[in-house]
Amino acid sequence: MITFDEARAFVLAGCARNATELLGLNEARGSVTAQEVVAAEQVPPFANTAVDGYAVLAADIASVPTTLQVTGTVRAGMSGADSPVAPGCAVRIMTGAPVPPGADAIVMVEDTEGSPTGDTVVVTASATVGQHIRPAGDDVNPGDPVIGFGTELTAAHLGVLATIGVTEIEVVRRPRVGVISTGDELVDDGSALAPGQIRDSNRLTLRKLLESHGFETIDLGLAQDDEQVIEAAMLLGAESCDAIVTTGGVSMGDFDFVKVVLERIGDMRWMQIAIRPAKPLAFGTIARSDGTAVPVFGLPGNPVSSMVSYELFCRPGLRKMSGFDDENLDIGIVSGVLDAPMKRRPDGKINFARVVCRWDMATSTYRVRSAGAQGSHQMAAMAAANGLAELPDGPTLEAGATVRVRLLRP
Ligand code: AMP
Ligand code: MG
Repeated sequence: MITFDEARAFVLAGCARNATELLGLNEARGSVTAQEVVAAEQVPPFANTAVDGYAVLAADIASVPTTLQVTGTVRAGMSGADSPVAPGCAVRIMTGAPVPPGADAIVMVEDTEGSPTGDTVVVTASATVGQHIRPAGDDVNPGDPVIGFGTELTAAHLGVLATIGVTEIEVVRRPRVGVISTGDELVDDGSALAPGQIRDSNRLTLRKLLESHGFETIDLGLAQDDEQVIEAAMLLGAESCDAIVTTGGVSMGDFDFVKVVLERIGDMRWMQIAIRPAKPLAFGTIARSDGTAVPVFGLPGNPVSSMVSYELFCRPGLRKMSGFDDENLDIGIVSGVLDAPMKRRPDGKINFARVVCRWDMATSTYRVRSAGAQGSHQMAAMAAANGLAELPDGPTLEAGATVRVRLLRP
């Protein structure tokens, strides 16, 4: 058996950063930038008002109340140049509208009296020069670095880019992932089960997991436990995908052909890892006709094992391919306190228990409890879990013990 860290390092070494592509902002959320963005435009592009009110000269309202002549109105979208503010006068102005020439302060509607359509307004509070004015360039100026290399683009980043008039951005291409399930016992067409058959759930689960993590998937189908069939599916996948995920066929059984095939057509290492669940993992790369190496993650077949293995090895590898740096390959690891004992026995392995991890306001700590039965075939707890608690080798951990939890969702 090898350690978790060794297995992970091996997998990550086989996952190279993808090439880059230019994406429109509409497609770029979740991608990692492959360029820096320097602003070419000023934001805001003109001095504008932060409130609804009146554009005035601060000197005119040094003593209040004061009555000013209302000589115009400027709304958002208007230029303001046609409505200059002369001494003794005010221009009615709406949030976001340009500050008209001559004015040096804005008085809020709340600090005035009089009809909103009248020819005069009574100002009841004095103003300092610049009050409620957002100067041009208050947010961004040409030459400002706005987004760095290696940034995971969020909705807010895209908003910033839209604000400065950028419409496309160079990002690392996210991997497209082919998914294959293997096993003679599997049925995937909804038909009645013959004796010994079970339904294929892994392929759907993994595809939807991958998609929810921002990876496009390709269904490479259900392969029988047959070397030729598995090989054909893998070779087909290698041409159309950046990575392949298989489930099943990597254990010690007589019909575990995934590792056999991968050994033959790829540069593969079959690992027995000191973790529970998900001990076996076959990882290797297949050479594509264009010369690039396509990583293949041969995950174990038990549904819980395949999901845990995906979280521990495959998702970080795919994030590396997507351009994330080493510190951001996991979604989040927190420290939590056990609500109740978590059973385990010394077996030389790290146990990754399916847990529910909740932030407790009263104690400002994460509280951790088991999500249910922990068998590697028992999906209910996997479905209920939002984290994997790392239980180091040893006996049962008592209530109150501190554990590391790998979050499954942000
Ligand atoms: P294997 O890794 O092929 O030895 O499979 C381990 C266990 O997982 C067996 O009980 C399989 O029947 C089950 N299994 C394998 N593949 C799937 C799948 N795609 N969906 C559901 N269960 C599976
Ligand atoms: Mg099998």
